[in-house]
Amino acid sequence: MSFDFDLFVIGGGSGGVRAARVAAATGAKVGLAEESRMGGTCVIRGCVPKKLMVFASSYREVFNDARGYGWDVTNGELDWPAFKSKLEAELDRLEGVYQKLLTGSGVKWYAARAVLDDPHTVRLDSGEVFTAKHILVATGGRPFVPDMDGCEQAITSNEIFHLKTLPKSILIVGGGYIASEFACILNGLGVEVTQFYRGAQILRGFDDEARGLVAEKMQENGIALCTGTNVVEMEARGEAGTWVKGTDGSERVYDQVMFATGRTPNTGGLGLEDLGVELGRRGEIKVDAYSQTAVPSIYAVGDVTDRVNLTPVAIREGMAFVETVFNGNPTAPDHDLIASAVFTQPELGTVGLSEEAAAEQEPIEVYCTSFKSMQQSFAGRDDRVLMKLIVSQATRKILGCHIVAPQAGEMIQLVGIAVKMGATKEDFDRTVAVHPTMAEELVTMKTPTRTA
Ligand code: NDP
Repeated sequence: MSFDFDLFVIGGGSGGVRAARVAAATGAKVGLAEESRMGGTCVIRGCVPKKLMVFASSYREVFNDARGYGWDVTNGELDWPAFKSKLEAELDRLEGVYQKLLTGSGVKWYAARAVLDDPHTVRLDSGEVFTAKHILVATGGRPFVPDMDGCEQAITSNEIFHLKTLPKSILIVGGGYIASEFACILNGLGVEVTQFYRGAQILRGFDDEARGLVAEKMQENGIALCTGTNVVEMEARGEAGTWVKGTDGSERVYDQVMFATGRTPNTGGLGLEDLGVELGRRGEIKVDAYSQTAVPSIYAVGDVTDRVNLTPVAIREGMAFVETVFNGNPTAPDHDLIASAVFTQPELGTVGLSEEAAAEQEPIEVYCTSFKSMQQSFAGRDDRVLMKLIVSQATRKILGCHIVAPQAGEMIQLVGIAVKMGATKEDFDRTVAVHPTMAEELVTMKTPTRTA
């Protein structure tokens, strides 16, 4: 049977675009449909604009530090409309880059929503219908907002980049990556931030000591972090904002309320279940180790599969799919020891197991140091950074590394290589320090802080 395409990709985000390009490079005839903007969550409404906002929000501390070093500077105010229009121009540019990359690699792409008619047929909302030997679903996810009366004025991370003016006050609901990052960003931009998290400590799943330090510093920086607290009731009050009653008994009108209460895979209305593609409890597409669904011609990668919801992971999954299907070399994406960073202020970089998870697994040694960085201390700040290694007593391998510090994301990327290679504590010890740096502490910790 002949098909219009060897591969049709639904979704033009990180995973879909990479898979389409790499498949086309093997000589395959590839089509791709994207219903919104090319680049997907990461480029258009996630990592990229978020990181630019992290940079924008960090200057307040830079001005303060500069004065500590003797510079004669005043803080000033952020010109939000000026920043926003530059940000929008940058996203337009990146969207164009993604479109050009696809066109340049020979992928035929469509600005349309695609749904599946059968295991080999996609139907676009433009009316076009195409057949394909393989179909890759890479439709990502979208913010989940708990169903609650009065939440119609509330925003999510999708809208935060489009605010015409910055609110004076905001309530952020949630304690994960997005809630904590935006609490810090908006606080840095001068917004009065309250954060409600229903659990005992934000950033559940990360190393307890590391997330404790991040939370402590966020509070010191002025964020009203209310743990063990959720929204009981809310009511839109038009121009005045949104009235919110919390489980802690508080009642207050906030200019803006933002829900960062997780994300839901985009599987609705694609026709997947009718074809026999199995979905999980949260609507995620169930796939095997090679990203293949229960329907052999249909594969899925990225957040829509709800495995590890990170851009570089979606890209790896897309490339492993192409290697498996188009290069005849079955390749399962490797989800082990993925380093990542939370762009809070201070940043948290992490790879491997938390102390708590490692101690449940096997006997460990913990090496940990917390100190004032030279740069910040001189400027008069008493912020502490944290460097922590979790070591297996049996194999001496580094099971986890956790860093809370400026540029922790940059540091953990490099530590991630050593940890992925199976480095032992003695390999770290053999490494000569780079002096004077914060990261040198990672190779100079001689005595375990504790064993468990
Ligand atoms: P997370 O799953 O990380 O966090 C969701 C938060 O919302 C949790 O604190 C959760 O609480 C809380 N929550 C869930 N449901 C409710 C509810 N009904 N009422 C109140 N609180 C609720 O999701 P995010 O949206 O923050 O991020 C989604 C994913 O995006 C992340 O998992 C990550 O993979 C990715 N991401 C990565 C980034 C990075 O690498 N820097 C940045 C941003 C996103 P509880 O803990 O109790 O479940």
